[in-house]
Formats: sequence, structure tokens, C-alpha cells
Amino acid sequence: MIEMLNVYKKYPNGITAINGLSVRIEPGEFVYVVGPSGAGKSTFIKMIYREEKATKGTIKVGGFDLMTIKEKNIPYLRRYVGVVFQDFKLLPKLTVYENIAYAMEVVEKNPKSIQKRVLEVLELVGLKHKVRMFPNELSGGEQQRIAIARAIANTPHILIADEPTGNLDPDTSWEIMKILEEISNQGTTVIMATHNSQIVNVVKHRVLAVENGRIVRDQLEGDYGYEA
Ligand code: ADP
Ligand code: ADP
Repeated sequence: MIEMLNVYKKYPNGITAINGLSVRIEPGEFVYVVGPSGAGKSTFIKMIYREEKATKGTIKVGGFDLMTIKEKNIPYLRRYVGVVFQDFKLLPKLTVYENIAYAMEVVEKNPKSIQKRVLEVLELVGLKHKVRMFPNELSGGEQQRIAIARAIANTPHILIADEPTGNLDPDTSWEIMKILEEISNQGTTVIMATHNSQIVNVVKHRVLAVENGRIVRDQLEGDYGYEA
């Protein structure tokens, strides 16, 4: 599903963010990515959906070879990999419905099936009743649930979440985690970068610890492993 072999990422400013990293992630796994600030977690994650291109090494995601993929094929990769961010990144001038439909219109042309799927994913995150609202009328937790609905609208095989609970209070963070668990239980591979030690230590999954651009610990049912 995801294979990285001896991957390096050097930014134009000379910083080497990823420094000889190798890892394999199998279909259906739930993986936490932990580590100190500046360790390379975001860069690692961004390389999976080709927001950043590696400088050297091999990266394969599904059937895509990310070292040779053509620009015109990146939209297909983005269907395969859904992404959720710490700051939600909803479009403020669009309603909840439009935010999700917009993400689908690139791919799915049939308006009826778009409508059906938008309501389906809203149901899954428990916010069908907010379909006509604008992002700024929603709480942070609700906005993140909408962002998750948008990320899974095109039924990706992989869902990436970069600090999805970073801006949320503990109760809301647990609600978001419950939704990610549900998505994982439906068979989607979930990769979540997080500083939330409570969640990592209670809801046990594989833990990848990144330091200095490398994986320094890879543990099934691992602990968070850093001071909270
Ligand atoms: P983390 O997500 O673990 O905090 P990052 O991947 O964001 O780590 O950053 C790893 C290193 O790469 C840091 O030294 C950071 O300053 C640097 N870095 C991240 N993004 C960029 C960028 N776009 N340009 C230059 N350097 C970057
Ligand atoms: P996060 O907290 O999610 O790891 P960061 O605060 O590290 O994110 O980075 C925020 C944005 O700034 C990212 O898009 C990252 O690529 C960029 N960035 C981070 N460090 C640098 C840097 N040293 N030079 C340029 N851009 C950077």
C-alpha cells in the first residue's frame, strides 16, 4: 500500500527534513506518527500525497510511483489519498454541502450521486442537519468533522490526518478520534500525526516515531513515548 525506501527530502533552503527513511504500511493499518517538533512528521506525511516531492529514494503509494508520477496523474493520487489538517482548511464562502460537493465534482460528474454521497458522509460524521451552514457557524470540532467528511467523500483507500486534534479540546478530540476509528474499521488505512499522548496511549495502534528525519521506533500497539 505504502512503501518508502531510503527516502531523502532536502528543502531548497538546505534543511534535510527526511534523512534516509524507510517504512512499509499495509492496507487497513492505523498508524500514529509521533515525534518532537521539527522531526520531519509533516514532511513525511506530505510526501505520501505528493504535496512535497522526495529528493531521493523510492516512494510507492497504491499503484503510484511517486518519484515518476506525471503531473496530470496527481489528481488520481489525490482520490486515493484523502487528507485532513489541523486547521480544517474548509472554504469559508461555501456551505457545508458545497465544501464536500466541490471536492467531489472534480471526480464525479453525476449530480445525483454527488448529492447522495454528500449526505452519506455527513451522516457518518453525525452532521447531516448542518448541511446548509457555513464553516464560521460551526464549532472547531464540527468543522473538523466536516473536513473529515470531505476527505472521505471520494472513498480514498488512505486517510491522512496531520494533527487533526491539535486545535481541539480533549472531549472534542475524543469525538474526532471515534470517527477516525470508524473510518478505519471500514477498511481505510489511517495515518495520523499527533501530539495527543492520551489518545495514543489509550487507543492502541502502530506507532512510528520520527526523529531527525528517520523512523527511530516502529511499534505495534506502541506508546506515545514522550513527555506529554
Ligand atoms: P514536524 O512536522 O515533525 O514538526 P516538519 O516536517 O514540519 O517537522 O519539519 C522538518 C524540518 O524541515 C524542520 O527543520 C522544518 O523547519 C523544515 N521544513 C519544513 N517545511 C519546510 C519548507 N517548506 N521549507 C524549508 N524547510 C522546511
Ligand atoms: P506543523 O506544525 O503542522 O508541523 P509547521 O508549523 O512545521 O507545520 O509548518 C507550517 C508550514 O510552514 C508548512 O507548510 C511547512 O511546509 C512550512 N514550513 C515549516 N518550516 C519551514 C521553514 N523552515 N521554511 C519554510 N517553510 C517552512
